[in-house]
Amino acid sequence: MNIVHTVQEVRQIVKAWRKEGLSIGFVPTMGYLHEGHQSLIQRAVLENDRVVVSIFVNPMQFGPQEDLESYPRDLEHDAAICEETGAHLIFHPEPEEMYLPDFCSFVDMNGLTKGLCGKSRPVHFRGVCTVVNKLFNIVGADRAYFGEKDAQQLAVIRRMVRDLNMDIEIVGCPIIREEDGLAKSSRNTYLNELERKAALILHKSLTIGKRLLESGERDANTIISCITEKINTEPLAKIDYVDVVDALSLEKVDKIERSVLVAIAVYIGKTRLIDNFSFEV
Ligand code: AMP
Repeated sequence: MNIVHTVQEVRQIVKAWRKEGLSIGFVPTMGYLHEGHQSLIQRAVLENDRVVVSIFVNPMQFGPQEDLESYPRDLEHDAAICEETGAHLIFHPEPEEMYLPDFCSFVDMNGLTKGLCGKSRPVHFRGVCTVVNKLFNIVGADRAYFGEKDAQQLAVIRRMVRDLNMDIEIVGCPIIREEDGLAKSSRNTYLNELERKAALILHKSLTIGKRLLESGERDANTIISCITEKINTEPLAKIDYVDVVDALSLEKVDKIERSVLVAIAVYIGKTRLIDNFSFEV
């Protein structure tokens, strides 16, 4: 496995693979890899001849008050995970490699990015769309793998690829959880012992919502109220949002008649965590 830091190196390697007629899978990440990322890499290894993993903490997708500086980083550990999972290339650029001083081109989206996480993170999805677009152009993969953990991101990327006729297949992969149900996340490392326990409220409250849907409840507000009530039993938790939205348009629904995404964002202490589930009617 190779680790490279420049666009030119990635292009050279991929070009050689293409000459051999090999297919290419791509897994974009911000590093500090865990089993969630690993599941994406595993799937990519299964479905492609060569797999590229990018590790880049993208400054453009962080707001001014967010955790860009403190975001955890450990390239050595990440390289070991990529290697043992069967990836062939890590692209680990410096921000200066991705954004020249006079950089001024962006990819943005209306609609899908305004609700859910977009409300409290207004610049986030412009940063995500721009960097993912750049990475797709750099790597030139056949398929790219994204986790359902970031359900809004997955919907946004799918829409961007469709709207802009990008020649890449987007593969969504299920949420990987800790044994007690907490969705794996690089940000879980911010939690102290008490907060780690409190963070279980995300999965617990979603489980209540899911059971209600499974038992036939179709009123979105009832689902939202029950999830909200459960989260509010946890003193360390502060809700950012609890929403029931159409799975494709991400627009709020009242009556649940089509596939929906039930998504939440909750602060546990200072750490903002997200979780979700999809439900097909
Ligand atoms: P990140 O490094 O947080 O930007 O995540 C990189 C990719 O890994 C994204 O597509 C995430 O949705 C995915 N991912 C992160 N955590 C998980 C998880 N617990 N289960 C599945 N995919 C995940």
